[in-house]
Amino acid sequence: MTPRDRADACPGAVQTHLAADGRLARVRVPGGLLTGAQLLVLAQAAVDLADGALELTSRGNVQLRGLADDAPPELARRLHDAGLLPSEAHETARNVVASVLSGRSGGLVDVRPVVQALDAGLVADPSLAALPGRFLVTVDDGRGDVHGLAGDAGLVAVAPDALALVLAGHGSGLRAAPAQAHDLLLRAARAFLDERAAQGSQAWRVHELDDGPARVAARLGSSVVPLAVPAADPPVGSLEQGDGRVALVGLVPLGRLTTAALDVLVQVTAALGSEVQLTPWRSVAVPDLPDEYVDDVATALHSAGLVFDAASPWAQVTACAGLPGCAKSRADVRADAARAVATGTLPVPGPQHWAGCERRCGRPAGSVDVLATGQGYEIGAG
Ligand code: SF4
Repeated sequence: MTPRDRADACPGAVQTHLAADGRLARVRVPGGLLTGAQLLVLAQAAVDLADGALELTSRGNVQLRGLADDAPPELARRLHDAGLLPSEAHETARNVVASVLSGRSGGLVDVRPVVQALDAGLVADPSLAALPGRFLVTVDDGRGDVHGLAGDAGLVAVAPDALALVLAGHGSGLRAAPAQAHDLLLRAARAFLDERAAQGSQAWRVHELDDGPARVAARLGSSVVPLAVPAADPPVGSLEQGDGRVALVGLVPLGRLTTAALDVLVQVTAALGSEVQLTPWRSVAVPDLPDEYVDDVATALHSAGLVFDAASPWAQVTACAGLPGCAKSRADVRADAARAVATGTLPVPGPQHWAGCERRCGRPAGSVDVLATGQGYEIGAG
């Protein structure tokens, strides 16, 4: 058990974090799905109130940096009007990642309605506002892309008519039909809070509780069981949808969606009346493209910095904020990582996370550390 002596301090859109470059706001986007209108609101807010860009997080959420001290109320008003802040009390609790392109390409179940019902049920229950900001929900449509992201409570489709409940990676022995699956997940979230209270704990995650998965399962009248779900690689590039249209999935270097990239995405979604999906791998999916538009959209997004080649070194590199955004950092890790990509001098092959200090913020599981020391970088520090 990891003892916690305080509540987590994850930032939100209202509870912003004061960073070295101004206030940082994190906007939860359950399932990563944004309508074109919502994307426009975020892009405009980034220009009007922040540094012009949107940062993608490892949970498919977005951050705005460099906000002035008096900007958060205006940001909250815009987000609320756009449906991006349905409950201020629940703002840090809505951490839901979902299979990318579910209902459009692959998967056993279209989990978009599950995510919608889950989010609605979450904000409708005042008790669930107590969920820690670190508590992660995964909703996997059976393809195995988000099941392995170390969620606390999750659903994974095991048949076209059944989703299994997962607790910190363990099967729970419980299943539900797609229309009832959100209820099962919400019951699990309440059971976590009840077990946490019973243990007198301030745990942020299920695995931090004593015997967490088993105790939470027991509160649901079940017990943990093995559950094997083959993992799938994150999508990159062009994918044909079930309806014959095309989805483009572009990597966003260092997770920073620039004003130029946002302009293209806003134009595309406005022209097609479509949406985008932010992924937990700091990429953006642009679905529902008619075949004749695909090359032009890909070219415009590539010109704005997005990468459509899974073999690109950008597929391997993540970084924390570093200098100048974080005063704790010993280096401008993003600039250094970008230089290493541009010059072909990445220090190791494969996934690597560049961090300015030992906190290693945003480090994906399985990455090698590239840790700033003040005199250079230490590789593979554990
Ligand atoms: S890892 Fe350290 S330097 Fe990087 S953002 Fe986190 S606290 Fe700042």
